[in-house]
Amino acid sequence: MTQKVQAAVRIAPGTTEMQEFELPPIDDDSALLRVEVAGICGTDVKMYANPPAMIHGRVIMGHENVGVIAQAGRRFKERQGLVEGDRVFVEHYVGCFNCEWCRIGEYRHCEATDWRTNPDGRRFGYTSAENPGTLWGGFSEYMYLPWNAVLHKVPDTVTPELAGLVMPLSNGIEWALLTAGVGYADTVLIQGPGQQGLSQLVAAKTAGASKIFVSGTTRDKHRFELAKELGADEVIDVLTEDPREKIMDLTGGRGVDFVLDCTSRAGTAPVLLGVDVLKRREGTLLIQGELAAFPDFPVKKVTEKAITIKSARGHSYKACELAVEQLASGRFPLEKLATHRYGIDQVDHAIRVLAGETEEDAIHISLMPELIGRAGGAVVR
Ligand SMILES: [Zn+2]
Ligand SMILES: [Zn+2]
Repeated sequence: MTQKVQAAVRIAPGTTEMQEFELPPIDDDSALLRVEVAGICGTDVKMYANPPAMIHGRVIMGHENVGVIAQAGRRFKERQGLVEGDRVFVEHYVGCFNCEWCRIGEYRHCEATDWRTNPDGRRFGYTSAENPGTLWGGFSEYMYLPWNAVLHKVPDTVTPELAGLVMPLSNGIEWALLTAGVGYADTVLIQGPGQQGLSQLVAAKTAGASKIFVSGTTRDKHRFELAKELGADEVIDVLTEDPREKIMDLTGGRGVDFVLDCTSRAGTAPVLLGVDVLKRREGTLLIQGELAAFPDFPVKKVTEKAITIKSARGHSYKACELAVEQLASGRFPLEKLATHRYGIDQVDHAIRVLAGETEEDAIHISLMPELIGRAGGAVVR
Protein backbone atom coordinates (compact mmCIF):
# COMPACT_ATOMS: atom_id res chain seq x y z
CA MET A 1 0.00 0.00 0.00
CA THR A 2 1.75 3.15 -1.14
CA GLN A 3 -1.14 5.50 -1.68
CA LYS A 4 -1.56 9.01 -0.31
CA VAL A 5 -3.95 9.68 2.52
CA GLN A 6 -6.30 12.67 2.76
CA ALA A 7 -6.87 14.00 6.25
CA ALA A 8 -8.49 17.05 7.86
CA VAL A 9 -5.86 18.70 10.02
CA ARG A 10 -6.39 21.26 12.78
CA ILE A 11 -3.58 23.67 11.96
CA ALA A 12 -4.62 26.38 14.44
CA PRO A 13 -7.51 26.95 16.88
CA GLY A 14 -10.77 26.81 14.90
CA THR A 15 -8.94 26.23 11.61
CA THR A 16 -8.87 23.05 9.54
CA GLU A 17 -7.03 22.27 6.34
CA MET A 18 -7.13 19.16 4.15
CA GLN A 19 -3.61 17.75 3.87
CA GLU A 20 -2.03 14.77 2.17
CA PHE A 21 0.08 12.25 4.10
CA GLU A 22 2.08 9.14 3.29
CA LEU A 23 0.62 5.93 4.70
CA PRO A 24 2.71 5.22 7.81
CA PRO A 25 4.75 2.00 7.78
CA ILE A 26 3.29 -0.93 9.68
CA ASP A 27 5.40 -3.39 11.66
CA ASP A 28 4.53 -6.70 13.35
CA ASP A 29 2.82 -4.89 16.24
CA SER A 30 0.72 -2.27 14.45
CA ALA A 31 -2.07 -1.93 11.92
CA LEU A 32 -3.89 0.46 9.61
CA LEU A 33 -7.60 1.19 9.86
CA ARG A 34 -9.59 2.29 6.82
CA VAL A 35 -11.86 4.84 8.48
CA GLU A 36 -15.57 4.61 7.66
CA VAL A 37 -17.14 6.92 10.24
CA ALA A 38 -15.77 9.42 12.72
CA GLY A 39 -18.41 10.79 15.07
CA ILE A 40 -18.19 14.18 16.75
CA CYS A 41 -19.36 15.35 20.15
CA GLY A 42 -19.31 18.38 22.42
CA THR A 43 -15.66 17.70 23.24
CA ASP A 44 -14.77 18.40 19.59
CA VAL A 45 -16.55 21.75 19.80
CA LYS A 46 -14.35 22.67 22.79
CA MET A 47 -11.09 21.16 21.53
CA TYR A 48 -11.48 22.71 18.09
CA ALA A 49 -11.88 26.24 19.39
CA ASN A 50 -9.46 25.88 22.33
CA PRO A 51 -6.88 23.14 21.75
CA PRO A 52 -4.95 22.13 24.89
CA ALA A 53 -1.68 24.06 25.12
CA MET A 54 0.33 20.88 25.76
CA ILE A 55 -0.57 19.34 22.40
CA HIS A 56 1.79 20.85 19.81
CA GLY A 57 1.73 20.89 16.03
CA ARG A 58 -0.82 19.63 13.57
CA VAL A 59 -3.59 17.44 14.96
CA ILE A 60 -5.93 15.17 13.04
CA MET A 61 -8.97 15.26 15.31
CA GLY A 62 -11.67 12.56 15.40
CA HIS A 63 -11.93 10.45 18.56
CA GLU A 64 -15.10 8.35 17.93
CA ASN A 65 -13.90 6.11 15.15
CA VAL A 66 -15.21 3.13 13.23
CA GLY A 67 -13.50 1.37 10.36
CA VAL A 68 -12.13 -1.80 8.88
CA ILE A 69 -8.69 -3.30 9.57
CA ALA A 70 -6.95 -2.70 6.23
CA GLN A 71 -3.49 -4.05 7.02
CA ALA A 72 -2.14 -5.58 10.22
CA GLY A 73 1.10 -7.01 11.56
CA ARG A 74 1.36 -10.62 12.70
CA ARG A 75 1.60 -9.91 16.45
CA PHE A 76 -1.10 -7.22 16.25
CA LYS A 77 -3.53 -9.80 14.88
CA GLU A 78 -2.56 -12.38 17.50
CA ARG A 79 -2.82 -9.93 20.37
CA GLN A 80 -6.09 -8.32 19.25
CA GLY A 81 -7.77 -11.45 17.90
CA LEU A 82 -8.57 -9.59 14.68
CA VAL A 83 -7.82 -10.02 10.99
CA GLU A 84 -7.88 -7.78 7.93
CA GLY A 85 -11.48 -7.00 6.96
CA ASP A 86 -12.81 -6.93 10.53
CA ARG A 87 -14.88 -3.86 11.43
CA VAL A 88 -14.00 -2.29 14.78
CA PHE A 89 -14.91 0.61 17.02
CA VAL A 90 -11.72 2.27 18.24
CA GLU A 91 -11.75 3.78 21.71
CA HIS A 92 -9.93 7.11 21.82
CA TYR A 93 -8.22 5.88 24.96
CA VAL A 94 -5.01 3.97 24.40
CA GLY A 95 -3.94 1.59 27.17
CA CYS A 96 -0.47 1.30 28.73
CA PHE A 97 -1.62 -2.13 30.01
CA ASN A 98 0.70 -1.72 32.96
CA CYS A 99 -1.12 0.49 35.43
CA GLU A 100 -3.86 -0.51 37.85
CA TRP A 101 -6.54 1.18 35.69
CA CYS A 102 -5.57 -0.50 32.44
CA ARG A 103 -5.51 -3.86 34.24
CA ILE A 104 -9.24 -3.53 34.94
CA GLY A 105 -10.32 -2.08 31.60
CA GLU A 106 -10.54 1.53 32.83
CA TYR A 107 -8.25 2.99 30.17
CA ARG A 108 -9.93 6.39 30.65
CA HIS A 109 -8.02 6.80 33.94
CA CYS A 110 -4.61 5.74 32.58
CA GLU A 111 -2.06 8.47 33.35
CA ALA A 112 0.64 7.08 31.09
CA THR A 113 -1.44 7.58 27.93
CA ASP A 114 -3.34 10.75 28.90
CA TRP A 115 -1.87 13.95 27.49
CA ARG A 116 -2.95 15.79 30.64
CA THR A 117 -0.58 13.75 32.80
CA ASN A 118 2.05 12.70 30.25
CA PRO A 119 3.21 15.18 27.57
CA ASP A 120 4.07 12.16 25.38
CA GLY A 121 0.71 10.45 26.01
CA ARG A 122 -1.26 9.10 23.07
CA ARG A 123 -4.99 9.27 22.48
CA PHE A 124 -6.83 9.19 19.19
CA GLY A 125 -7.99 12.62 18.13
CA TYR A 126 -5.65 14.38 20.56
CA THR A 127 -2.17 13.37 19.42
CA SER A 128 0.01 15.49 17.15
CA ALA A 129 0.59 14.20 13.62
CA GLU A 130 4.30 14.87 14.16
CA ASN A 131 4.47 11.66 16.24
CA PRO A 132 5.45 8.29 14.74
CA GLY A 133 2.40 6.74 13.11
CA THR A 134 1.23 10.21 11.96
CA LEU A 135 -2.45 9.32 11.50
CA TRP A 136 -3.70 9.66 15.09
CA GLY A 137 -7.26 10.79 14.42
CA GLY A 138 -10.37 9.68 12.57
CA PHE A 139 -10.83 12.72 10.31
CA SER A 140 -8.67 10.85 7.83
CA GLU A 141 -9.02 8.13 5.22
CA TYR A 142 -6.75 5.88 7.29
CA MET A 143 -5.77 5.75 10.93
CA TYR A 144 -2.68 4.23 12.53
CA LEU A 145 -3.31 1.57 15.19
CA PRO A 146 -0.43 0.86 17.62
CA TRP A 147 -0.21 -2.42 19.57
CA ASN A 148 -2.07 -0.90 22.51
CA ALA A 149 -5.12 0.48 20.68
CA VAL A 150 -8.32 -0.54 22.46
CA LEU A 151 -10.68 -2.07 19.90
CA HIS A 152 -14.18 -3.52 19.91
CA LYS A 153 -15.26 -5.86 17.14
CA VAL A 154 -18.48 -4.73 15.45
CA PRO A 155 -20.79 -7.47 14.15
CA ASP A 156 -21.72 -7.44 10.45
CA THR A 157 -25.34 -6.66 11.33
CA VAL A 158 -24.33 -3.21 12.63
CA THR A 159 -23.70 -0.61 9.92
CA PRO A 160 -20.65 1.67 10.22
CA GLU A 161 -22.92 4.66 10.83
CA LEU A 162 -24.77 2.85 13.61
CA ALA A 163 -21.45 1.75 15.08
CA GLY A 164 -20.55 5.46 15.18
CA LEU A 165 -23.05 5.65 18.04
CA VAL A 166 -20.97 3.35 20.26
CA MET A 167 -19.32 6.37 21.86
CA PRO A 168 -22.42 8.33 22.97
CA LEU A 169 -24.21 5.11 23.84
CA SER A 170 -21.28 3.78 25.88
CA ASN A 171 -21.24 7.08 27.76
CA GLY A 172 -24.97 6.73 28.38
CA ILE A 173 -24.50 3.20 29.71
CA GLU A 174 -21.49 4.19 31.77
CA TRP A 175 -23.09 7.23 33.37
CA ALA A 176 -26.72 6.17 33.89
CA LEU A 177 -26.14 2.50 34.63
CA LEU A 178 -22.60 1.90 35.90
CA THR A 179 -21.85 5.26 37.54
CA ALA A 180 -25.23 6.53 38.79
CA GLY A 181 -26.73 3.07 39.23
CA VAL A 182 -30.19 3.55 37.68
CA GLY A 183 -32.12 0.30 38.01
CA TYR A 184 -35.46 -1.42 38.27
CA ALA A 185 -38.49 0.80 39.01
CA ASP A 186 -36.39 3.94 39.48
CA THR A 187 -37.63 7.39 38.49
CA VAL A 188 -35.25 9.48 36.43
CA LEU A 189 -34.94 13.04 35.14
CA ILE A 190 -32.61 13.42 32.17
CA GLN A 191 -31.71 17.02 31.43
CA GLY A 192 -30.78 17.73 27.81
CA PRO A 193 -32.10 15.56 24.93
CA GLY A 194 -28.89 15.55 22.87
CA GLN A 195 -26.98 12.43 21.87
CA GLN A 196 -25.77 11.89 25.45
CA GLY A 197 -29.17 12.49 27.03
CA LEU A 198 -30.96 10.20 24.58
CA SER A 199 -28.30 7.53 25.11
CA GLN A 200 -28.85 7.71 28.87
CA LEU A 201 -32.57 7.39 28.22
CA VAL A 202 -31.98 4.11 26.38
CA ALA A 203 -29.68 2.86 29.16
CA ALA A 204 -32.20 3.81 31.89
CA LYS A 205 -35.06 2.23 29.96
CA THR A 206 -33.11 -1.00 29.48
CA ALA A 207 -32.18 -1.03 33.17
CA GLY A 208 -35.87 -1.03 34.07
CA ALA A 209 -36.56 2.55 35.17
CA SER A 210 -40.29 3.02 35.75
CA LYS A 211 -40.60 6.71 34.87
CA ILE A 212 -38.22 8.73 32.72
CA PHE A 213 -38.65 12.46 32.17
CA VAL A 214 -36.56 14.37 29.66
CA SER A 215 -36.17 18.13 29.89
CA GLY A 216 -34.94 20.58 27.28
CA THR A 217 -35.85 23.84 25.65
CA THR A 218 -38.29 24.93 22.95
CA ARG A 219 -35.54 24.38 20.39
CA ASP A 220 -35.60 20.66 21.19
CA LYS A 221 -38.98 19.92 19.59
CA HIS A 222 -37.65 17.23 17.25
CA ARG A 223 -35.49 15.74 20.02
CA PHE A 224 -38.49 15.55 22.34
CA GLU A 225 -40.36 13.51 19.72
CA LEU A 226 -37.42 11.16 19.44
CA ALA A 227 -37.16 10.95 23.26
CA LYS A 228 -40.79 9.81 23.41
CA GLU A 229 -40.20 7.30 20.66
CA LEU A 230 -37.26 5.91 22.66
CA GLY A 231 -39.44 5.53 25.73
CA ALA A 232 -39.53 8.83 27.66
CA ASP A 233 -42.72 9.05 29.74
CA GLU A 234 -42.85 12.84 29.71
CA VAL A 235 -40.89 15.69 28.17
CA ILE A 236 -40.53 19.09 29.80
CA ASP A 237 -39.78 22.38 28.06
CA VAL A 238 -38.05 24.39 30.79
CA LEU A 239 -38.71 27.65 28.91
CA THR A 240 -42.50 27.30 28.75
CA GLU A 241 -43.22 25.08 31.77
CA ASP A 242 -42.24 25.15 35.43
CA PRO A 243 -40.03 22.06 35.61
CA ARG A 244 -40.07 21.84 39.45
CA GLU A 245 -43.84 21.91 39.61
CA LYS A 246 -44.28 19.47 36.74
CA ILE A 247 -41.82 16.92 38.12
CA MET A 248 -43.39 17.08 41.59
CA ASP A 249 -46.84 16.62 39.99
CA LEU A 250 -45.63 13.68 37.93
CA THR A 251 -44.13 11.97 40.99
CA GLY A 252 -47.00 12.66 43.38
CA GLY A 253 -44.88 15.17 45.29
CA ARG A 254 -42.09 12.66 45.95
CA GLY A 255 -39.39 13.77 43.52
CA VAL A 256 -37.16 11.53 41.39
CA ASP A 257 -34.52 8.97 42.37
CA PHE A 258 -31.97 10.13 39.80
CA VAL A 259 -31.12 13.32 37.94
CA LEU A 260 -28.73 12.98 35.01
CA ASP A 261 -27.44 16.32 33.75
CA CYS A 262 -26.59 16.12 30.05
CA THR A 263 -26.87 19.82 29.29
CA SER A 264 -24.03 21.90 27.96
CA ARG A 265 -23.43 25.59 28.47
CA ALA A 266 -26.61 25.83 30.59
CA GLY A 267 -24.87 27.33 33.63
CA THR A 268 -25.84 26.39 37.17
CA ALA A 269 -29.59 26.00 36.49
CA PRO A 270 -29.65 22.24 35.74
CA VAL A 271 -27.76 21.38 38.94
CA LEU A 272 -29.99 23.62 41.06
CA LEU A 273 -33.10 22.09 39.49
CA GLY A 274 -31.68 18.62 40.06
CA VAL A 275 -31.04 19.27 43.75
CA ASP A 276 -34.62 20.56 44.11
CA VAL A 277 -36.44 17.74 42.33
CA LEU A 278 -34.53 14.79 43.79
CA LYS A 279 -36.52 12.80 46.35
CA ARG A 280 -36.39 13.88 49.98
CA ARG A 281 -33.44 11.63 50.93
CA GLU A 282 -30.66 9.69 49.19
CA GLY A 283 -31.18 10.74 45.58
CA THR A 284 -28.32 10.67 43.07
CA LEU A 285 -27.23 13.57 40.88
CA LEU A 286 -24.93 12.92 37.93
CA ILE A 287 -23.03 15.99 36.75
CA GLN A 288 -20.78 16.95 33.85
CA GLY A 289 -18.53 19.74 35.02
CA GLU A 290 -18.44 22.58 32.54
CA LEU A 291 -18.37 25.23 35.23
CA ALA A 292 -15.02 26.26 36.70
CA ALA A 293 -16.86 27.74 39.69
CA PHE A 294 -20.31 27.46 41.21
CA PRO A 295 -21.14 30.50 43.39
CA ASP A 296 -23.72 29.82 46.12
CA PHE A 297 -23.63 26.06 45.59
CA PRO A 298 -26.44 24.70 47.84
CA VAL A 299 -24.21 22.57 50.09
CA LYS A 300 -26.73 22.71 52.92
CA LYS A 301 -29.58 21.38 50.82
CA VAL A 302 -27.38 18.67 49.28
CA THR A 303 -26.39 17.53 52.78
CA GLU A 304 -29.91 17.73 54.20
CA LYS A 305 -31.25 15.63 51.35
CA ALA A 306 -28.29 13.22 51.63
CA ILE A 307 -27.70 13.58 47.90
CA THR A 308 -24.91 11.61 46.23
CA ILE A 309 -23.15 13.51 43.45
CA LYS A 310 -21.38 11.46 40.78
CA SER A 311 -19.26 12.59 37.85
CA ALA A 312 -19.77 11.70 34.20
CA ARG A 313 -16.24 10.99 33.02
CA GLY A 314 -15.70 8.89 29.89
CA HIS A 315 -16.47 5.21 29.58
CA SER A 316 -15.05 1.80 30.45
CA TYR A 317 -14.29 -1.15 28.18
CA LYS A 318 -17.40 -2.86 29.50
CA ALA A 319 -19.66 0.08 28.59
CA CYS A 320 -18.41 -0.04 24.98
CA GLU A 321 -19.10 -3.76 24.74
CA LEU A 322 -22.61 -3.22 26.13
CA ALA A 323 -23.15 -0.40 23.63
CA VAL A 324 -22.18 -2.66 20.72
CA GLU A 325 -24.61 -5.29 22.04
CA GLN A 326 -27.39 -2.73 22.44
CA LEU A 327 -26.90 -1.52 18.86
CA ALA A 328 -26.82 -5.08 17.51
CA SER A 329 -30.03 -5.96 19.36
CA GLY A 330 -32.07 -3.49 17.31
CA ARG A 331 -34.34 -2.99 20.33
CA PHE A 332 -34.43 0.78 19.92
CA PRO A 333 -34.50 2.75 16.64
CA LEU A 334 -31.11 4.24 17.44
CA GLU A 335 -30.33 4.90 13.78
CA LYS A 336 -32.61 7.94 14.19
CA LEU A 337 -29.92 9.55 16.35
CA ALA A 338 -27.54 9.60 13.37
CA THR A 339 -29.13 12.65 11.79
CA HIS A 340 -26.30 14.15 9.72
CA ARG A 341 -23.44 13.07 7.44
CA TYR A 342 -20.56 15.08 6.09
CA GLY A 343 -17.30 14.41 4.26
CA ILE A 344 -14.16 14.87 6.36
CA ASP A 345 -13.40 17.93 4.21
CA GLN A 346 -16.39 19.57 5.97
CA VAL A 347 -15.11 19.11 9.54
CA ASP A 348 -15.18 22.84 10.25
CA HIS A 349 -18.82 23.16 9.17
CA ALA A 350 -19.89 19.95 10.94
CA ILE A 351 -18.43 21.12 14.25
CA ARG A 352 -20.26 24.43 13.88
CA VAL A 353 -23.49 22.57 13.17
CA LEU A 354 -23.04 20.48 16.31
CA ALA A 355 -22.25 23.63 18.31
CA GLY A 356 -25.65 25.01 17.27
CA GLU A 357 -24.14 27.86 15.24
CA THR A 358 -26.32 27.06 12.21
CA GLU A 359 -30.01 26.45 11.59
CA GLU A 360 -29.42 22.69 11.29
CA ASP A 361 -30.74 20.54 14.13
CA ALA A 362 -28.23 17.72 14.39
CA ILE A 363 -28.17 15.06 17.10
CA HIS A 364 -25.27 12.86 16.03
CA ILE A 365 -23.00 13.72 13.11
CA SER A 366 -21.06 11.13 11.12
CA LEU A 367 -17.97 12.35 9.30
CA MET A 368 -17.13 10.04 6.44
CA PRO A 369 -13.99 9.94 4.30
CA GLU A 370 -16.04 8.45 1.45
CA LEU A 371 -18.07 11.69 1.24
CA ILE A 372 -15.03 13.88 0.50
CA GLY A 373 -15.99 16.36 -2.22
CA ARG A 374 -19.71 15.65 -1.87
CA ALA A 375 -22.46 17.73 -0.30
CA GLY A 376 -23.28 16.74 3.28
CA GLY A 377 -26.21 17.46 5.53
CA ALA A 378 -29.28 15.88 7.07
CA VAL A 379 -29.78 12.18 6.40
CA VAL A 380 -33.01 11.39 4.58
CA ARG A 381 -34.40 8.05 5.74
ZN1 LIG B 1 -16.68 12.41 22.06
ZN1 LIG C 1 -2.46 2.46 31.96
